Amino acid sequence: MSTPIRVPVIVAKGVRPGPVVGLTAALHGNELNGIPLTHRLVLQEIQCQALHGIVVAVPVANVPGYLAQQRGFTDGTDLNRLMPGKKNGTTSQVYSYNLMTRLVKHFTHLIDLHTASKGRVNSLYVRANMQNSTTRHMARLQNPQIIVHNTSPDGSLRGAAMQQYNIPAITVEIGDPARFQKRFVKSAILGVTNILSHLKMVEDEHEVQDYDPVVCAKSYWIFTKGGGILNVLPDVNTWVRKGELIATLHNIFGQEEHRYFAPEDGIVVGKSVDPVCQSGCRILHLGVVSDHFPEGKIDDGHM
Ligand SMILES: [Zn+2]
Repeated sequence: MSTPIRVPVIVAKGVRPGPVVGLTAALHGNELNGIPLTHRLVLQEIQCQALHGIVVAVPVANVPGYLAQQRGFTDGTDLNRLMPGKKNGTTSQVYSYNLMTRLVKHFTHLIDLHTASKGRVNSLYVRANMQNSTTRHMARLQNPQIIVHNTSPDGSLRGAAMQQYNIPAITVEIGDPARFQKRFVKSAILGVTNILSHLKMVEDEHEVQDYDPVVCAKSYWIFTKGGGILNVLPDVNTWVRKGELIATLHNIFGQEEHRYFAPEDGIVVGKSVDPVCQSGCRILHLGVVSDHFPEGKIDDGHM
């Protein structure tokens, strides 16, 4: 139609200079918990008269996906695999390029807000490169239930911000898709405020939660071999022991086909709650605690 797609942006501009912290929500259009977070943070918590620097909140980064209540863009692509996009390319590549160059490029720090994908649930967890001192610190300040060390997949907003523009970036995964979860949103706001206060943008209101995050040196998804009716047993943010039964798979006649066991000790970062399972579907996202962070590229196959 030759008309641009408008992306909503809320800017809280402080009276004094300082960092430019960007918050992006709903880059996956059906991952919504970041939206009330941006509203509450920018419209209620932050006083511009007392703010040093600028907070830029993008309540919906994937506008067409949000309107269609879907994860991807209009052409079905995942914007979080297309970054930094292309100036001349497909519609989703150009959209990604504009998002990067007109918005994200101007941030000094990025907090990208996500949730689990459709059919799955998540703990409140942070994905960050724990080998990088700035992002490690941001992850700790965010104070989630779990932190997963991850060097960010190629094409992700976090990865492109870090690699292309040297902007320290973390991803905050706030619970479940397609809903607003007050408790998780409240905890995530506390974490963002901790980061702003550490950057000396707001008065020191550093609030320490009554738990420490579990820091995972690596994490990975466990998949089924066949298809069937899937029941994943442990809850998110609970520990499983090596050899513990984690899921059963029944055929459509109600007979048990397969049992799945934890391959090692770990914590459940996220899990599938959709019983309809085709071959190779996801069971659970297992986080493994270790003192040693593996070198090089670490990707858990997250989607
Ligand atoms: Zn996402």
